[in-house]
Amino acid sequence: MEKLVVVGNGMAGVACVEQILRHAPKFQISIFGDETHVNYNRILLSSVLAGEKSLDDVVLNGLDWYQQNGIDLRLGVRIIDVDPVAKTVTGDDGSVTSFDKLLLATGSVPIIPSIDDVEKDGVFVFRNLDDTRALLERARPGLKAVVIGGGLLGLEAARGLQVQGCDVTVVHLMETLMERQLDPTGGGYLATKMNSLGVTVLLGLSTTKVLGNGKVQGVEFKGGGSIAADLVVIAAGIRPNVGLGQRAGLEIKRGIVVNDYMETSHPDIFAVGECVQHNGVCYGLVAPLLEQGKVLAATITGNNGPKYQGTVPAAKLKIMGVDVFSAGEINDKVDGSEVIRYEDPTLGIYKKLTLKDNKLAGAILVGETADSHRYMEWLRSQTDLTTLRRQLLFPESAGDAGLDVAQMSESETVCGCMGVTKGTIIHAIHEKGVNTLAQLKECTRASTGCGSCTGLCQQLLKAVVPDFQEEVKKTMCKCLALPEDNLREILRSQQLKSVQEVLDIYGNGTGCEVCKPALSYMLDMLWCGDHQEDRSARFINDRVHANIQKDGTFSVVPRIRGGVTSPDELRRIADAAEKYQVGMVKITGSQRIDLLGVKKADLPKIWADLGMPSGQAYTKGVRMVKTCVGTDFCRFGVQDSTSAGIELERRFENLFTPHKLKMGSVGCPRNCAEATVKDIGLVGQEGSWQVVVGGAAGKKVRKADLLITIETTEQALDAAALFFQFYRENANYLERTYDFVERLGIEKVRKETVYAIDVVKDGLRDRLRKSKERSQDAWLEGEAPNNPTQFVQIKPLAGVLA
Ligand SMILES: Cc1cc2nc3c(=O)[nH]c(=O)nc-3n(C[C@H](O)[C@H](O)[C@H](O)COP(=O)(O)OP(=O)(O)OC[C@H]3O[C@@H](n4cnc5c(N)ncnc54)[C@H](O)[C@@H]3O)c2cc1C
Ligand code: SF4
Repeated sequence: MEKLVVVGNGMAGVACVEQILRHAPKFQISIFGDETHVNYNRILLSSVLAGEKSLDDVVLNGLDWYQQNGIDLRLGVRIIDVDPVAKTVTGDDGSVTSFDKLLLATGSVPIIPSIDDVEKDGVFVFRNLDDTRALLERARPGLKAVVIGGGLLGLEAARGLQVQGCDVTVVHLMETLMERQLDPTGGGYLATKMNSLGVTVLLGLSTTKVLGNGKVQGVEFKGGGSIAADLVVIAAGIRPNVGLGQRAGLEIKRGIVVNDYMETSHPDIFAVGECVQHNGVCYGLVAPLLEQGKVLAATITGNNGPKYQGTVPAAKLKIMGVDVFSAGEINDKVDGSEVIRYEDPTLGIYKKLTLKDNKLAGAILVGETADSHRYMEWLRSQTDLTTLRRQLLFPESAGDAGLDVAQMSESETVCGCMGVTKGTIIHAIHEKGVNTLAQLKECTRASTGCGSCTGLCQQLLKAVVPDFQEEVKKTMCKCLALPEDNLREILRSQQLKSVQEVLDIYGNGTGCEVCKPALSYMLDMLWCGDHQEDRSARFINDRVHANIQKDGTFSVVPRIRGGVTSPDELRRIADAAEKYQVGMVKITGSQRIDLLGVKKADLPKIWADLGMPSGQAYTKGVRMVKTCVGTDFCRFGVQDSTSAGIELERRFENLFTPHKLKMGSVGCPRNCAEATVKDIGLVGQEGSWQVVVGGAAGKKVRKADLLITIETTEQALDAAALFFQFYRENANYLERTYDFVERLGIEKVRKETVYAIDVVKDGLRDRLRKSKERSQDAWLEGEAPNNPTQFVQIKPLAGVLA
């Protein structure tokens, strides 16, 4: 077998090897990478910095892939020399490796402009995983960060740092942000949007010096002005990494020169990716390098296929909520070109199409990029747009305009980042049995780049796979097209604290009855009250703290912890019922008393007269704990279920949960208070408690799963608390515990709660404690003028745990 040596374990090199492996095995392959990581998706580093993806999410090929394909992977080894005659490469570890064919995929290096003192501690570049890690380690809330460079990378770095809490300024040499992709108007819209996100943008400034004594303290500009900085990121562009090509004596211009077959000037040396120059162009994007990889794989395996003919450059900014797309020609002053433009300053939308000879030559979209696929296709296919002139900026409804995925031609690109066409996806579905989005990603890489084509991929799967099941990760709703777990992560990492802010940045700005209450809950749970409450985002019942009935009156349920009350409370309940002439006094199935038929105007007065806390019978929150009499009165009782139940209720009451949450506590396995069909149940047994979770006895009947058997009451309450907080933090909104436990499986729930490592358990306990400290009785909220300021405290029973 011939020996193929690949220098560069990045996106281009490995993508090309993947293609080579699709042809018959022909090579013994060695890959050298000077980074110490397996092949990862560099595009997603911006999302890692912005807290939207974890480091694990970016791995493209794990170690097992190299092993399975018999690839000799040499991580952390930098190739420092090539001998094109002896056909060897020399590594910085002293190794000399011979090759029959050599593939250079060495990518680019960041351009460092001539700025004095750039070597100071606190100056970073943003190119690889180690840079990203270093930035994440250094970035702290309140730190002043300056990003030099207002191109795509600089802006993504700026947003990432801002999400990490830094106070960020972008300093750009030119007068227009992303001037290589946008015109001045588009750049202006983008600058406004960045400013509205809290990133300061300074244009037309040349940075000349990094200030500070060993450590960064600021940056100075040409002309003398300066600003303070604790951290500086240089994102001033990239330059093809041609050093090895030079040592091999290859023809070099800006990049390593290659022909249409990705051959260099040496017959056994090839190159792909950002290090190459093809037809005078050096690309800084993934789509071209994937196309190049396919061509080279055919060339090197002796299957010369289609030539590489260049790629239409297209760029998309990957900042959530800042939609920017640019492709093709941005200069509209070219002879014979026509410009079609639309602007809405209030909505921050700008669209410009440049046409030449009735064909699309370029597109700029800011604030609204839904049509980018259509424009890309027109650019690629050079469609004559004469008959489509009326629909250029405002397409007809999707079906009529041919946007429907079923009507796209097979050659149209669905995933621009990874260059995957509709035909490739259809082929994967038919030939490889792909029938989920995850499999599609794995098989074709579609939707693994910036993610903007995920919807199209889903549509294709739906149209072609007969029994396609939607991914479990459903998005919240039409106004907020993100799955809930992503959303939680984003709210947490980006410190978003109001429903409106979230809707403005990630949604349609208005929201609906599905997403607003869900967001309201998430923010409350995440920030434990340290956020902007928006009462209009709640359900009606939560706004008035009572349950609306079919005749428009309300039901009032005071809290009776563990179902244990007193003559005094009963007297007050009876008096209030008479005074406000309630329609019915009902003992509920959960050991409480319901006063039905109360007028809205009487609500605050009846709460005051009752002098008891709200039973929160109306909300997605903690309802009650049903208890049996346990050891106090029952001859079978082996545990004090009443005290434990009262304490359980006291610890969790007034807290919101994804859906209503009911609990039970019983003194022996006879289970008189039905604890095994509650969301959380404590079941007493001789010398221990069983803590059970995920039970139900409503529309769905489900026996709870055993979370843990544990010795003391305090330990049982702690286990319940761990599950309670885990459910609050991880369930989808409106997901009951029985669905949540089934979805995750009890083993996973155990691992994440009672069997989690101490630091995880402490985190859950801490956050629960913080929520509890900030919580208050709903009937004490400042809504009503007659609100009582203090309630009579229910005296704990003897033996109740402290
Ligand atoms: C933060 C960020 C966001 C981006 N976002 C997008 C985007 O949204 N869309 C898009 O299309 N593109 C994007 N890009 C660009 C895209 O990532 C690159 O085009 C692509 O990674 C280039 O692949 P490559 O293999 O040519 O180079 P690289 O991925 O850089 O791989 C080259 C590898 O070779 C190694 N190497 C170099 N010299 C040697 C040597 N002598 N010995 C051993 N190893 C060596 C390098 O360390 C590196 O690991 C982004 C880039 C960054 C940094
Ligand atoms: S569950 Fe056991 S302890 Fe409780 S009342 Fe029933 S028999 Fe008694």
